[in-house]
Amino acid sequence: MKDSYEWGPPPPQKPDNIPEFGFAKFTETDQSFVPIKEQSRVGYIHYVKRPGWEGYVRCIGEGCEFCNQPGQKREERVFLPGYLLEEARIGIFSVTDLRRPGSLLPQLERVLCSDEKVMITVRRTSMTTFKVRTQSLNPGDDDGEAAIEQFRKKCDAGEINTLTVTPAYTEAEIAGLSVTPALCAR
Ligand SMILES: [Zn+2]
Repeated sequence: MKDSYEWGPPPPQKPDNIPEFGFAKFTETDQSFVPIKEQSRVGYIHYVKRPGWEGYVRCIGEGCEFCNQPGQKREERVFLPGYLLEEARIGIFSVTDLRRPGSLLPQLERVLCSDEKVMITVRRTSMTTFKVRTQSLNPGDDDGEAAIEQFRKKCDAGEINTLTVTPAYTEAEIAGLSVTPALCAR
C-alpha cells in the first residue's frame, strides 16, 4: 500500500465540478465499509491556520508554497477509499502513519492484505487507538458494487483520484475564504 505513490492530477478546473465523494471519519461508533484498496494512496497534507480559516490542504509536492514556510510541517497520510455501508456513499479515510499498539494503520494493513472480499468495521477506542474487525460479505449483501465501479471508472479516466479529496488551496485562495478580523469586529 505504501508503494502506490502518486501526486495525482491537478484539481478539477470547473468550480462546479465537485467530486461526489468526501472524507469519512472513524468515531466512537462502528463505521463499516467495503475497502477499495487498490485506490489507496500515500499523500502529504499541511494543516494551515489563518485568521478565519483553518484546515488541511494537499501538498502538491514540487512548488508547494506551504513546504517552504517556517513552522509549516508536511504530514504523511494513507488515504483509503471505501464504500460506507450506512451512508451508501464512497468516503475517503485519512489514516496517520502512527505505529503503536492499537494504531489504525498496522491493523488496516493486516486486513487489507487478504484477497477476500470483506467488510471492515472500525471503532475509535481512544484518541490514538482503534478496534478493527472484519466480516465476510455474503451473496446478496449490499457491497456497494455499483458505487465502487463508478468511483474506479472516474479514477481510471483521471477525473478524480483518492488524493483530490483534500483541496489543493493556494495561499491566495485561503485568503479569499478567510474572514477578515475587521469585518468580525463590526
Ligand atoms: Zn507542501
